[in-house]
Amino acid sequence: MMIFAQQNERTIGAPDKLFGVSSLAKERIAQIGKENVINSTIGVLLDEQGKLVVLESVMEAVRGLTREDYAAYAPILGLPEYLEAVKTAVFLEEPPEGCYVESCYTPGGTGAIRNAISAYTIPGDKILTSDWHWSPYRLIAQELGRTVCCYTLFDETGKFHAASFEAALSAILAVQEETLIIVNTPAHNPTGYTFTDEDWNALLTAVLKYPDKKIALLVDIAYLDFAGDGKTNRAFLKKLNGLPEHILPLIAFSASKGYTMYGMRCGAILCMTPSSAIAEEFKDVMRVESRASWSNGNRAAMAVIAKILADKGLLAKVQAERQHWLEVLCPRGDAFMEEARHVGLKTCPYDAGFFITIPCDDPEGVGKRLQDFNIFAIPLGPGIRISVASNTVAECRVMPSKIKTAIAQS
Ligand code: PLP
Repeated sequence: MMIFAQQNERTIGAPDKLFGVSSLAKERIAQIGKENVINSTIGVLLDEQGKLVVLESVMEAVRGLTREDYAAYAPILGLPEYLEAVKTAVFLEEPPEGCYVESCYTPGGTGAIRNAISAYTIPGDKILTSDWHWSPYRLIAQELGRTVCCYTLFDETGKFHAASFEAALSAILAVQEETLIIVNTPAHNPTGYTFTDEDWNALLTAVLKYPDKKIALLVDIAYLDFAGDGKTNRAFLKKLNGLPEHILPLIAFSASKGYTMYGMRCGAILCMTPSSAIAEEFKDVMRVESRASWSNGNRAAMAVIAKILADKGLLAKVQAERQHWLEVLCPRGDAFMEEARHVGLKTCPYDAGFFITIPCDDPEGVGKRLQDFNIFAIPLGPGIRISVASNTVAECRVMPSKIKTAIAQS
């Protein structure tokens, strides 16, 4: 058969791992019933009945949209009121002082990652992230002709491996004039780890060692609003203010989780810089990046976020609803970790969020063995990812001992 699509470095047509395991889970549910299967493949927040959590306050804003909000084009960079709203969504009551902050609409955090890589690196470049990471980083980089290099996220004590980060950054900058670093915090996917104050200090100390290089530092905050205390989790943003102009902090904002707008494809990329010229250039380059990929953004989704952030009452409702669901989510993670400790199952360090990861030697084998126990989870890198966001507390209590057995038997 003739191969028509360009192969480049990529593999096309390979079965999607996540989709494959999730279809198997659905088949098993059809055979033996929902109550007998634990489906831990879904990366969204589900309620206790297994239904998608949708914030009612967000739906209130959706219902208030006009015909034009849905139908008209938005400016390429985004609606002006949206561009301001996302700054508030990220920084809340503490906007950074003494630096320029600019923003650009992107379809979800995914679009922000895409634009950041495309705008601030060149084809052939290596970009840096941790060994445990959200796999689309690699795919996006690859499609743009860049490569993802990894440092080891955790040292043997389960702390941020600063030495590994430094070594990997140094290797890249020995041969490149620029790079982009992706840090996913708080509540990192797939481990649930949140960078501490010390982690940030160590990371920035390493980054500051290269005054002659251009380093874009992209913080992927996809889970920020489901990671616990909003103020504590935003403390790191202050550290990004006041860096020299050859380091460009970028934020990948996503409305998917925090506003349960997964399918509405709403996100943004923000920059923080001491230079007005770099801030202006950010808007210029983002206009080009967006125009050349998705063109205009989803105006209705932007209008929803703008409405919420401009209305203190509505924002308070969103925050209260989120708090309620956070109080549903946290006990699930706690139950899993408590039981893991109880049975002696070693997990990656988990602080908060949708996922917990269990490192193991044969993730595919462990995943298959778990399916014999009617548990479906995703083998990811050298481990198995559990989605506590989509499982009940009871299910979270059941899983650790089964995983321990599956590891022992595979
Ligand atoms: N970053 C991480 C770590 C994610 O897990 C996700 C979604 O699952 C995203 C970014 C992007 O999500 P979206 O494009 O829906 O905003």
